[in-house]
Amino acid sequence: MAEAYRWRVQEHGPTGSVIREAFDPPSPGPGWARIALRAMALNHLDLWTTWGLEGVKLPIPITPGCDGAGVVEAVGEGSALPPGVELGSSVMIAPGLSCGVCAACLRGDDMACAAYKVLGHMCDGTAATHVLVPAANLLPIPPNWDFKQAAAFPLVYLTAWEMLHRKAKLQPGESVLVWGGGSGVGSAALQLARLLGGHALAVVGDDAKAMRCWELGAEHVIVRTREDVAKKVRELTGKRGVEVVFEHTGTATWGASMAAVARGGRIVTCGSTTGVETPLNLRALFAKQITILGSYMGRREHLWTLLEFIKRNPTNPPFFPVVDRVFRLEDYPEAQRHLEAGKGFGKVVCEVAP
Ligand SMILES: [Zn+2]
Repeated sequence: MAEAYRWRVQEHGPTGSVIREAFDPPSPGPGWARIALRAMALNHLDLWTTWGLEGVKLPIPITPGCDGAGVVEAVGEGSALPPGVELGSSVMIAPGLSCGVCAACLRGDDMACAAYKVLGHMCDGTAATHVLVPAANLLPIPPNWDFKQAAAFPLVYLTAWEMLHRKAKLQPGESVLVWGGGSGVGSAALQLARLLGGHALAVVGDDAKAMRCWELGAEHVIVRTREDVAKKVRELTGKRGVEVVFEHTGTATWGASMAAVARGGRIVTCGSTTGVETPLNLRALFAKQITILGSYMGRREHLWTLLEFIKRNPTNPPFFPVVDRVFRLEDYPEAQRHLEAGKGFGKVVCEVAP
C-alpha cells in the first residue's frame, strides 16, 4: 500500500507553502468515517487557510482542502450512514461540520451553528490521502460522475444554491449578473441560474472563457477587460439593470455591482476574493432600494436537493461540475499556484493515486 500522507500548513505563508507529511490515518470514532480519498478539489479557502486571515485564528498546523471524494474505508462504532452509503461506497463529502443538536442545526441552518466549521479551514481537510469526517457528511456519487467531478461539486454548488435560491430568491424571468463566470462558483451559478429560470449575464476576463460560459447557459457574456460592465448591463437590460448580482469578488467589483443592479434589486455576496473592504454609497443604497445579502456556505440538506435534480434526469442533467485542470496530489502546492493565477475555467482538482 502506498504511504499515507497529508499536506500541512505548519505556519502561514505564501501560496504553495505547505509541507508534505507522512501520517497514520486514525480510526474513526463513533459517528465518524474514514475516507480513502481519490480526488480533492481546491477552493479559495485553501489559499486563505495557507496565507492566514487577518483577525481570524486558524488552528495550525492544519491540512487544507474543503472538497473531496473517495471510498468509505472505515466506519466508527455505531455510526449511522446516509441513504445509499455503506462501507466501501464511493462518496463525496459535504464540507460543513456542525454540532447537529442546537436550534440552528435542528432547523437545518447548519452554517448558522455556533460550532460550524469548514473542513480544511477550521479542522483537517482533504489535501491528504485519507480524511476523517462525520458519517452524516457523506453523499453518494451520481453514477455518471467520476471522483474528479464528485470532488468538484460540493462547496461551490452548496454556495451558489444558497446564494441564488435561498438568499437572493432568484425568480423565473429575472436577470442575474454572475461575476467570474469562469471560476468554480461562477460556473456553478451560471448553471443553477438557468435551472431556476433566470437569465444569466456572465462576466469573464477573456474570450476563451466567454465561449465556455455560453455553453453553461449564459445568455450574455461581458468581457470585463474591454467592456465597462455596468454600462453593458444597462444596455442589455434596457437601462433597468439586473434584479440580482452574484458577487463573490469583493473590492474590485463592488462599485460596478452597485451600478449594475436594478432599483429594488439584490446583491448577494460571499468570498470577496479581491478584498473585503469597499466604500458603500448609502444614498445609492437607499435611493435604488438595494438589498445586500451576505452568504456563507449553505444548508447541507440542499446538496441532497441538488442530487435529486441529477437523479431525475441522469441522461440530460441540468448541471455538472466543471473540472479545469487535474494535478496529482503530490503536486498540491502547484495546484494552489494555478488556482491563484486564475487562468483556468472551473475547478482545480488533485487526483490521489489509489
Ligand atoms: Zn449546531
